[in-house]
Amino acid sequence: MARYKDEQCRRCRREGQKLFLKGDRCYTDKCSVSRRNYAPGQHGQKRAKLSEYGTQLREKQKVKAYYGIGERQFRKYFEMASNKKGVTGENLLQILESRLDNVVYRLGFGTSRAQARQFVNHGQFEINGKKVDIPSYLVKAGDVITVREIKKDNSTIKANVEQNSARLVPAWLEKNNEKLSGKVIRLSAREDIDLPIEEHLIVELYSK
Ligand code: SF4
Repeated sequence: MARYKDEQCRRCRREGQKLFLKGDRCYTDKCSVSRRNYAPGQHGQKRAKLSEYGTQLREKQKVKAYYGIGERQFRKYFEMASNKKGVTGENLLQILESRLDNVVYRLGFGTSRAQARQFVNHGQFEINGKKVDIPSYLVKAGDVITVREIKKDNSTIKANVEQNSARLVPAWLEKNNEKLSGKVIRLSAREDIDLPIEEHLIVELYSK
């Protein structure tokens, strides 16, 4: 499938808001949303009013973009969330937050979830002493995520840690910059998730 060179920025423009998919660039005036805040394509400047279905669909697409998830995987997470006790929308967000690539990003080892995913794919991390190179791995309370000893010289990760040292780590995680590690204290709660998501729209969409 052909991929747009600037596909991630197009997704932000499609949603009409910054989704912070490109790390540092998102905080500069090179950000496409800052420069062209209208949808991509020939008719992008004419924003039509969305139907109820359209609003729900856009919310789902936005969340998929945030976490870098495809439709099939997202649907699977939704089913897991529905089968768990509690509020389905909140369960869904908790599952998404528990993905290893998200945790690596939240701990400040990556400047974006996409970069964090690449690090995980390249076997840079271990959990509780065992190498894990599956970005969709779901962490549990008590898990300790560490840059593997043989990868601790990775200058990009070190630079990210330095650069992100002031970035707030969510209350459900704890990080140790010296040891290049982090711990899952508990799973995330709804109030820990700072993204502008209306998860009830996704639940409504899938409940049709
Ligand atoms: Fe989105 Fe970042 Fe591109 Fe801006 S620079 S449009 S926030 S991905």
